[in-house]
Amino acid sequence: NLSQRLMTVAQYVKSGSRLADIGSDHGYLPIYLAKTGQVSFAIAGEVALGPLSNAEHEIKVAGLSDIIMPRLADGLAAIEPTDNIDTITIAGMGGGLITRILEQGRAKLTNLPDLILQPNVDAIDLRKWLVNNHYQIANENILKEDAHIYEVIHATRADRPVQYSPLELMFGPHLIVNQNTAFVEKWQGKIKRLRTAITQMQSAKVPPIQRIANLNDEINTIQEVLDNAR
Ligand code: SAM
Repeated sequence: NLSQRLMTVAQYVKSGSRLADIGSDHGYLPIYLAKTGQVSFAIAGEVALGPLSNAEHEIKVAGLSDIIMPRLADGLAAIEPTDNIDTITIAGMGGGLITRILEQGRAKLTNLPDLILQPNVDAIDLRKWLVNNHYQIANENILKEDAHIYEVIHATRADRPVQYSPLELMFGPHLIVNQNTAFVEKWQGKIKRLRTAITQMQSAKVPPIQRIANLNDEINTIQEVLDNAR
């Protein structure tokens, strides 16, 4: 049974795709997609030997060795030109690491494959990279599972340059206009953590006035975004 998180990633994979799942770990995502017939070919890329052998085992047990190729590689180095990959998934890592993998693998992105990304944190870095690299954000989702909140970004080739406002980059251009309960919970939690940080700073011998002001600005920004949706 696939997690809700990976199911959300899976829902953006077009039927008949040729997929590279980077940082595949146990390979559950490509295995699920091969079973549903959404992928006709997939690479399960892994940088670490332990997870790679987990993936190899799971793929064999599922009888999918003809469709899913486990490969030991750093990031997009798992992709060969002859694979004709049209979709890349990268899930369960920080936004900074996902951004680094995309940046270092830019040579593998010349045909602008669909990207379905699930950053655990720092989605803003990823959105900035996407708009600077010929992508638009076609869909987004945010969900809560096992007390964690996850964002999923589906980026597709931008036919003309797109621009997002600072608020759209921070909150997500789709998520901000269609605020669900997970979105509200995420940002209310952020406000709470910022308030705690401010309280701690205020109790310092010499309170850092400028930093406190910056955090207060951030709280006000978030509060306005949440209020505007009501
Ligand atoms: N994608 C799966 C998921 O979402 O459930 C697994 C996520 S797991 C937390 C992250 C995996 O990414 C680990 O197995 C790790 O070895 C792999 N990884 C980290 N950096 C990588 C890189 N540069 N290239 C390929 N795999 C990487």
